[in-house]
Amino acid sequence: MGLYSRIHAVVATCAACGYKDERVFQFKFADKRLRDYRVGDPLLWEANVEGEPGHMRVITSAFAEACPQCGAEDNRLYQVVIEQDHITALVNVGDEVNELAVFGPDGYRYEDY
Ligand SMILES: [Zn+2]
Repeated sequence: MGLYSRIHAVVATCAACGYKDERVFQFKFADKRLRDYRVGDPLLWEANVEGEPGHMRVITSAFAEACPQCGAEDNRLYQVVIEQDHITALVNVGDEVNELAVFGPDGYRYEDY
């Protein structure tokens, strides 16, 4: 039973070795049972659920796993955009943002407007 799920995506180049292909990102929203997603996929809500479905838009934080080529850690902060229960974007938001201010105490926030 995992405590997070994963998104496989090409987002940012590794700062250490320049690797620029697909990487794995961990996030904690919807089904956290080590589900594997790609951008465009609908979220699953079967077990270990965080949050609730049915919101217009959800913003939640994500963290990159180590670079698959050189093993370097990536401490940059990433943001998952979920619209109508589908993952629609995964973007790097840099390392100067305040995680709590951006995502709130739960690590995600709803935008229903
Ligand atoms: Zn690397």
